[in-house]
Amino acid sequence: MTAAGESAHSPDDSGGLVLVLNSGSSSVKFAVLAPASGERVLAGMAEKVGRPETELRIRRHPDDVVTERLREGSFQAVISRILDHLPEAGLGTGEDGAPGQAHLVGAGHRVVHGGERFTASVVVDDEVIAAIRAFSHLAPLHNPANLAGIEAVRATRPDLPQVAVFDTAFHQTMPPRAFRYAVPEEWYTRYGVRRYGFHGTSYRFVSERAAALLGRPLAELRLVIAHLGNGCSVAAVRDGVSVDTTMGLTPLEGLVMGTRSGDVDPGVFGFLADRAGLTIDELNDALYTASGLQGLSGVSNDMRTVQAAAAEGDERARLALEVFVHRLAKAIAAMVVGLGRLDALVFTAGIGENSAFVRGQVLARLGFLGLAEDAEANARHGRDTRGRISPDGPAVAMVVPTDEELMIARDTARLTALGAPAS
Ligand code: ADP
Repeated sequence: MTAAGESAHSPDDSGGLVLVLNSGSSSVKFAVLAPASGERVLAGMAEKVGRPETELRIRRHPDDVVTERLREGSFQAVISRILDHLPEAGLGTGEDGAPGQAHLVGAGHRVVHGGERFTASVVVDDEVIAAIRAFSHLAPLHNPANLAGIEAVRATRPDLPQVAVFDTAFHQTMPPRAFRYAVPEEWYTRYGVRRYGFHGTSYRFVSERAAALLGRPLAELRLVIAHLGNGCSVAAVRDGVSVDTTMGLTPLEGLVMGTRSGDVDPGVFGFLADRAGLTIDELNDALYTASGLQGLSGVSNDMRTVQAAAAEGDERARLALEVFVHRLAKAIAAMVVGLGRLDALVFTAGIGENSAFVRGQVLARLGFLGLAEDAEANARHGRDTRGRISPDGPAVAMVVPTDEELMIARDTARLTALGAPAS
């Protein structure tokens, strides 16, 4: 059909493509990609899902973006329409796809919370669906939306194998000293109040990439990884497994984020309930949506805008950056306790991959860990130095772009056992 369609014909010699879905409460991000090469043949997003004015934006090629309004905006309608685009992009969508054409081998879903049960990705069946539903109280905004995505694929393509990839799974290796809170025992045994950690799919991808870039076995590496996007967290990865992380029961704990506060004194709840008459819902809402860079700077939740305002002399924006960097450096240093030794500090996600300023500021505070900035390599985001942004030494700092969609696609292809390399 289109030039984009033509260029999308043979993305993967094994012929298998994976539909990756990240279903939120009112949006769905998706990609159709080749797990072996990571090539995207389709990608896009649907917004205002579940409402009459649902908008679907599909990119078949950097220059070929189509936007559609869907009359019926259910999850199922969105997924059905995404699948409609596969033949349009020149791709067979099943066993009946023309010989030699790539076809879908499975759908992989990002699922936010897998509780203590899921320590790895799994093929979806009725029992897995029931378990994801059972953990919905731990992620009330996310798990039900993730399930809606799974159920919509089931309804549209009942034959297509599906895989659930959990944000929490990678951190299930944390020892109790890292995941338990010092609270009454019953809070843990009865209600599951413990630290779970998030961004696990990203940490898994980035730690493997970092090992490859360093040319060392992951099983021997001690890494601190800072995933700095709209949500921010840091994890300690020792010999390939997570031993500590900053996010906890919910993705609110830990670092300063775009709109989330990260750590505050838990006493603030009682204090503000008392002094300002705020309800639990109001407090939660403020800590999730009106805090972080947004709350401190008053300018924006977006790091680019906050950096620009600070550069123009805005005092609150400057303070927001200072708090962000101070807390981040402190958390990185704390993560080293679980490692005993630091081989590499790795920056990833939107801020981690793109803000030479934040990285430079953090490194300037971590000299005692043997880290320093190589200003030229940092300014180039480590692109010409296999990710390295510090001088060579026993501990190095690196930038490693994350790709959660690719990790989900690889897990899906591996678990559906149809022609992709093990991740
Ligand atoms: P999400 O968590 O939604 O996937 P991203 O990983 O895309 O988010 O990260 C978004 C954050 O990355 C925003 O705060 C954005 O300002 C920041 N960011 C993106 N590009 C830059 C840049 N060039 N400099 C500083 N921050 C950036």
